[in-house]
Amino acid sequence: MNNVKTNLGVTQPKYYLSQIAKSCLSTVQSVTYAGNQVTCPCCNGSFRKFLPAGIHARQNAECPKCFSLERHRLLWLYLQNHTNLLSEKLKVLHFAPEFQLYRLIRKLPNLDYITADLSAPRVMVNVDITDIQFEDNSFDVIICNHVLEHVTDDRKAMRELHRILRHNGWAILQVPLVGTQQETFEDPSVVSPEDRERLFGQKDHLRLYGRDYKNRLEEAGFKVQVDDYLKKLGSAKCEKYRLESDDSNCEDIYFCTK
Ligand SMILES: [Zn+2]
Repeated sequence: MNNVKTNLGVTQPKYYLSQIAKSCLSTVQSVTYAGNQVTCPCCNGSFRKFLPAGIHARQNAECPKCFSLERHRLLWLYLQNHTNLLSEKLKVLHFAPEFQLYRLIRKLPNLDYITADLSAPRVMVNVDITDIQFEDNSFDVIICNHVLEHVTDDRKAMRELHRILRHNGWAILQVPLVGTQQETFEDPSVVSPEDRERLFGQKDHLRLYGRDYKNRLEEAGFKVQVDDYLKKLGSAKCEKYRLESDDSNCEDIYFCTK
């Protein structure tokens, strides 16, 4: 394994201060929002409601205790109930790890768990997703959510992810995706943050994926199962766990195998 920067053990006072502040906030909010209307499957807390979140302050979205959003809660339920993540010895690569999931996955004793990012300081290895330093067939599981929309050559990144996945492995590769839009919209001439936000939904997004995202993954070699997991769970659970986001993103799970 060449060109890997290891960042474990780096002490960053600012980071630890922010963690302490977050922990205090979590305790205060858990008391303030105590109740039984909604439940968070990530921390098992029950509350009278969730907090607003996002640019447009989506109501009832963020857990007051562990700060999970709808997509984290949905994915954690899926990982628990529909994968072998909690039961088998697996080597896992988690790109740009969302702390809401990282704090749960890192505690699983059955995993050889590696976190990765292009440049974030608190991951275990720095990895360019379009030129990954790991050998072919290295991982049983890859988790890479809300990353590919930031990558210029996302097709190359997908081929790299496919290359390092083991033959009986699986990957979850979620992106912001407009379910009512068939074709991915991208235009390399759109470079200003304002235009990107207007056209692609965020200042650092390079495209707006449509339903053909599945085809793009298949072109890279993946077999893709698009799972409408919200529908399978049913409306009572969706309401209890607040899994449906009020924005226009599609919440289907893109479960990829080799
Ligand atoms: Zn929670």
